[in-house]
Amino acid sequence: MLEKAQFTRKKEDFICDVCGTTVHGDGYTNHCPNCLASKHVDVNPGDRAATCHGVMEPIAMEIRHGKEYIIQQCEKCGHTRPNKVAPNDNRETLRLVASGMWMRSRFQR
Ligand SMILES: [Zn+2]
Ligand SMILES: [Zn+2]
Repeated sequence: MLEKAQFTRKKEDFICDVCGTTVHGDGYTNHCPNCLASKHVDVNPGDRAATCHGVMEPIAMEIRHGKEYIIQQCEKCGHTRPNKVAPNDNRETLRLVASGMWMRSRFQR
């Protein structure tokens, strides 16, 4: 089996800081399929070079070249980035984000 190491690809499971879901990393998607948040750990996708570690929250949806992207914004530094929607992402959350009605506070007591 030939495998080309073209970019850093880590398969890591993590527990979502926002909603507590255990996320099984597949090496490509690093956001939580339940609440669509992730952590600000990458400068370039997959490199884990950022030192911010703030929560990247979904703030909007965008369609680019026929593919759906979640636009995430870091709560600490304000950095925004597009994150491709994964097949197992929660459609209800996606719908709420797209309509501007998503609130992370629904997970907080
Ligand atoms: Zn989550
Ligand atoms: Zn940040």
